[in-house]
Amino acid sequence: MIFADHLGFCYGVKRAIHIARQSAQNPPAYTLGSIIHNPQMVERLKSEGIGVVENLDEVSEGTIIIRSHGVAPKIYDEIRRKGLNLIDATCPHVKKAQLSAKSLVDEGYQVVIIGEKNHPEVKSIFEWSDQKATIIESESEAQNFPEVDRLGIVSQTTFSRKKFSDIVLILLEKSRDMKILRTICDATEHRQIAAIDLASKVDLMLVIGGKNSANTSRLASLCAQKVQTYHVETAAEIDPNWFKGAKKIGITAGASTPDWVIEEAGQTVLSIDSQ
Ligand code: SF4
Repeated sequence: MIFADHLGFCYGVKRAIHIARQSAQNPPAYTLGSIIHNPQMVERLKSEGIGVVENLDEVSEGTIIIRSHGVAPKIYDEIRRKGLNLIDATCPHVKKAQLSAKSLVDEGYQVVIIGEKNHPEVKSIFEWSDQKATIIESESEAQNFPEVDRLGIVSQTTFSRKKFSDIVLILLEKSRDMKILRTICDATEHRQIAAIDLASKVDLMLVIGGKNSANTSRLASLCAQKVQTYHVETAAEIDPNWFKGAKKIGITAGASTPDWVIEEAGQTVLSIDSQ
C-alpha cells in the first residue's frame, strides 16, 4: 500500500476548521452551508456545537461562519444587517479568485471563470464579478464563446490543471487582449500531480473523501484514466473483492478528507492485505 505524496486536508480547510472551532467557544455558532464537503467532519463539528444552516433566515442570533468556499458580497451585508457576529473562514486562495474577478471587471475585461457552474465557490466568484462573468466548464463552451476586445480569465481554485490549460488554449483565439490570473491553488495542483503519478505505478487506486467533494471526485476521475479506481467516503465502503489480483494499492484523498478517515481506510486495506 502506497500513499500519495500529497493528500488530505489542505491549508484552507485546516484553517477553516480551526476558525470554526474557535467560534464554538461563543455559542450559538453556525456555518453557512457545510464548512467543507465532508459529511464525517461536518457531523464531528456538529457534536462540538457548530451547527449548519443553509439560509440566514434560520438564524436570529449568534455567530455565522463563512466557509472556505466563500460567499457573495451581499451575504456579508445581510449578516451585518441582521446583527449577527461574522467570522470569515473563506480560504485566502478563494478570496484571491473572488477579488481577481472583481478587479478584472473593474478594469473593463469581459471575465470568464473556468470552473463548475454549480460549485459554491464558482457561484461566489461569479457574485464578486458583479454577476458579469461567464462561467465555462468545458471545451465546447469555450468554442462557443464569442470574440471579445478584452478577456480576463480566472479559475475555480480546485479545477483540473489540464482542463484549465485546454480551455485557455481555445479562448486564446477569442481575444487579442487577454489577462489570465492563475487561481488554481497549489494544494489542488500538488494533490492532482501526486495522484496521477501514483496511479501510474500501482494496480488499483483508492480515492478517499466526500462524494460531494469536487476536488476528491476530480482526483478519482484523474486516477481512473490511469488505473482501476474506487472512490469511497469511508473505510466502511471498501469491498475486499476489489483487491483480488492487485499487488500494489495506491491511496489518495481529497483536500477535505480528515486524517482519521484516511487512517481508517489505510488500516482496512492493510487488514485485507494480510488475510
Ligand atoms: S483546496 Fe486550495 S483553495 Fe480550496 S480550501 Fe484548500 S487551499 Fe483553499
